[in-house]
Amino acid sequence: MFVALDESGHRVPISDTQPGQNYFCALCGEKLILKKKEKNRAAHFAHPRGSDCTDWGDMSEWHLDWQAQFPVHTREVVLEKDGERHRADVCIQEYKLVIEFQHSHISQEDFERRCLFYTGCGYQLVWVFDAAGKLNEPDEFHELTWKKVNYTFSNFANINRTCYPGITIFLETPLDLCDDKRVLIAVKEMNQKFITPHYTCQHLLRENFLREYGCITDNTILSIREIFDKTKKLQNIARQEQQKKLDEQARREANQAFSAILNSKRYSHRRRRF
Ligand SMILES: [Zn+2]
Repeated sequence: MFVALDESGHRVPISDTQPGQNYFCALCGEKLILKKKEKNRAAHFAHPRGSDCTDWGDMSEWHLDWQAQFPVHTREVVLEKDGERHRADVCIQEYKLVIEFQHSHISQEDFERRCLFYTGCGYQLVWVFDAAGKLNEPDEFHELTWKKVNYTFSNFANINRTCYPGITIFLETPLDLCDDKRVLIAVKEMNQKFITPHYTCQHLLRENFLREYGCITDNTILSIREIFDKTKKLQNIARQEQQKKLDEQARREANQAFSAILNSKRYSHRRRRF
């Protein structure tokens, strides 16, 4: 966890902890211990060994980095329905939206349980998966494929809009192997082998994602929705231009055929006179 409750019940992010203070789990109320940063794990709150709490989760730097972009009151929010409780990585009440960040492997059961829970609570659910190092370079047909079968989703059946309504999935991956710049792939469909992304007219960057959910107010940065709208507009323009070309060609061919008929009639006319 990166957010815990202090003795007065105030939410405290891991970056703001004070020595000598006690911190508690928002899900089970248990007193937590502070873990220092080590290797790929960021500093975080942890339950003592042997705890029954189900709240463990992903403590990677990647996860913290994403989560820290959102206001503290939206981070690690506990939601409850019919006695079941989950801690959403980010919950934005204004948009009725939950965002889950996933760096490590997740089982299909766990994925589906969380999908069902959050959508059952009436929230839209957005998943952002860290796909760095997990995808092959696109092949000559620009097809995206998983590198190894045991990675996230590779053991999943098909994922598409029909199976998971109300759920949006993004994969975050470096633009190419020698580039630190990361892009988000908006997933249309995926299965054990292939990933079919939504086509967009420009790269989806973290800043576009943050603009979408109100963390960036700069109007010069497009939100994800605006990029999709822009893509649709450009596709319509391209389609209209293509149609115009086809119409033009059809007209030309019709004219040619018509003149050919006229010419042949003139010819036969002439022939009859002789
Ligand atoms: Zn707990």
